[in-house]
Amino acid sequence: MAKTAAKCAACGADMTFRYRPMEGWNVSGFICGVCYTQKLLEHYIEPDRRGITKK
Ligand SMILES: [Zn+2]
Repeated sequence: MAKTAAKCAACGADMTFRYRPMEGWNVSGFICGVCYTQKLLEHYIEPDRRGITKK
């Protein structure tokens, strides 16, 4: 009961390590390393794509 399984807020997978999403990612809660890396790539490697597909 002491251990609470945390789920990734983005993909729902069990997380061994929790990563705190940065502001502007539109993610509430913690995310897994895979999603964290993916978000980093989306927001920093392809910044102009975000501008084109602005919602
Ligand atoms: Zn995830």
